[in-house]
Amino acid sequence: MEEIQVNTSRQTEMIDITSRVSSVVKKSGIQNGVCTVFVPHTTAAVTINENADPAVMRDILMETNKVIPFKDGYTHAEGNSSAHIKSSLFGCSIAVIVENNSLRLGTWQSIFFCEFDGPRSRRVWVEISG
Ligand code: ZN
Repeated sequence: MEEIQVNTSRQTEMIDITSRVSSVVKKSGIQNGVCTVFVPHTTAAVTINENADPAVMRDILMETNKVIPFKDGYTHAEGNSSAHIKSSLFGCSIAVIVENNSLRLGTWQSIFFCEFDGPRSRRVWVEISG
């Protein structure tokens, strides 16, 4: 298992970590298998979506922040329920097929770390099984 450090700079943010996950795959030497990316936080997540137009991630964040507002009479004392809800909806892990020592992603797909309660210093765990 390898750990990737991600430093976020905004309250909500999507950061492309594909090249960093890909480096872990290369380093593992594993030719064929599965790469699991796991975020060990309750106010962050990981997702796969379009890398070509940054507007896609901006729109996803914009709509997510509308549907799950930062303040809405939540009862969680820490005051970051919005981030907890977004974390659960997006999910804390993804699995990507590894083929010929490379991530088998679609042409327009990238792996994004999702920050919902930043800025913070975050960790991402990457495990390759093969
Ligand atoms: Zn909390």
